[in-house]
Amino acid sequence: MPEGDTIYRAARAMQKAVGGKVVTAFEANLATLASVADDKGVVARTVEKVEARGKWCLIHFSGDLILLTHMLMSGSWHIYKTGEKWWMGRNRMRCAITCGDYQAVAFNVPVAEFHTARSLERNSQVPKLGVDILSDEYSTEAGVRALKERAATHPGDEVAVALLNQRVLAGLGNVYKSEVAFAAGVNPFRQMRTLTEREMEVMADVSQRYMKANILDGSGDGIVTYSGNRRTTHSMDRSDRLWVYGRQGQECRRCGAIVMMRKQGEQVRSTYWCPSCQPWIAAEGQTAEAPVGRQVKLLGPRRKVGC
Ligand SMILES: [Zn+2]
Repeated sequence: MPEGDTIYRAARAMQKAVGGKVVTAFEANLATLASVADDKGVVARTVEKVEARGKWCLIHFSGDLILLTHMLMSGSWHIYKTGEKWWMGRNRMRCAITCGDYQAVAFNVPVAEFHTARSLERNSQVPKLGVDILSDEYSTEAGVRALKERAATHPGDEVAVALLNQRVLAGLGNVYKSEVAFAAGVNPFRQMRTLTEREMEVMADVSQRYMKANILDGSGDGIVTYSGNRRTTHSMDRSDRLWVYGRQGQECRRCGAIVMMRKQGEQVRSTYWCPSCQPWIAAEGQTAEAPVGRQVKLLGPRRKVGC
């Protein structure tokens, strides 16, 4: 699943390529997009802004028209020089926006809708996002506020589930969820009500630092691709880049204990943690026994980071 920062990169790359430019051609392979495009017309509008909100990508056109896309598991936006060969087949294209020299092409996006500012406001999913970690409004205080509110309203939420919840903090994905909990020394299966203010502060702070560090990877002037490496350990070696994610059965980089993995939450997402650096703290009425996970390294092909 694309992480929030992946979509942020895609949005930024698109902003650089087509932001401020006039649409010279628009194609859509989805009936709903095509009919709105025919009615309202996309060609000759200006791309005013490309924005990432959590896992949603919003392309604002002049004249109150917004293209909203969500990547879910399989979708992606690509940037091409106009005329360049696409990396994916035309049959997977859902829409293509051409602005002179550059094209932004969406492949396999399962959700793509046109909105006006007003209909977007009414959309039940997009406005409910929590404070976006990569937005200017984000600060450690704002992050702590969001975590505290969640702990107050949903005290029994497990920490990593709350970190992944885009309505609490928008932007963290499955990889960073584990990395952020590790950085704060917080066992990801603890309940929100057991968190101290200090732990929330560290999580709110490192969430932003990790996400920003990854964006800076592609901060040059050129058009960037967004399959970039995620980095949290400050190492430049790609395999050394993450503290715990994807490392079950291997030694913790900090203490040498064996990193564990366990599926967590309703979405059954993989969570990685070090049982020694992230000790278990039971909530009142909870068993004092620490959760255990799989320690043995999985056989078979190495899983792609970010899955
Ligand atoms: Zn450790």
